[in-house]
Amino acid sequence: MAHAIIEVYDGDITELDVDAIVNAANTSLLGGGGVDGAIHRAAGPRLLEECRSLRGCRIGEAKLTQGYDLKARYVIHTVGPVWYGGDKHEADLLARAYRNSLIVAEGAGLSSLAFPAISTGVYQFPKRQATEIAMTEVKEFLLSAKVVQKVIFCCFDAEMAQLYSEYLN
Ligand code: ADP
Repeated sequence: MAHAIIEVYDGDITELDVDAIVNAANTSLLGGGGVDGAIHRAAGPRLLEECRSLRGCRIGEAKLTQGYDLKARYVIHTVGPVWYGGDKHEADLLARAYRNSLIVAEGAGLSSLAFPAISTGVYQFPKRQATEIAMTEVKEFLLSAKVVQKVIFCCFDAEMAQLYSEYLN
């Protein structure tokens, strides 16, 4: 889409007022640490209840829930790959996590969404490569998106924000 916007934001994703925030979840979808823990804390216990009904999520796939107590109306739960050195299809799986999250957003008619830096925390995906994949997938998707108009890359530290800013142009 010609007028789509990509922004970089340095701060807590749970505070963003967008149609959906993306959760870097694990395959159980039953909560965890990092951004997953923060999202469940901010959304309240009804989020876990809905997640239980989804019966997990495969790596690279994405599922939608309500946002409950979040400002965001929805949460798109996706599961990035654990980094095992690069020979276990990690790059492809991370790209699929971004792509499928965007497909879910588009299918649900959501126009603004925010991504955390999927897999770059506990899952140890190299930050620069993850940034490149995230940017490539989002830019490519926005070229033909009909509904999604704004994507925010939410960073939780200055290093990630710097990397995203580098790849923005
Ligand atoms: P993963 O298991 O996919 O690596 P993590 O939650 O450990 O997920 O980390 C993913 C990214 O989310 C990291 O860059 C981490 O710094 C960031 N992060 C952690 N908490 C938040 C938050 N509240 N808002 C935005 N990003 C966050």
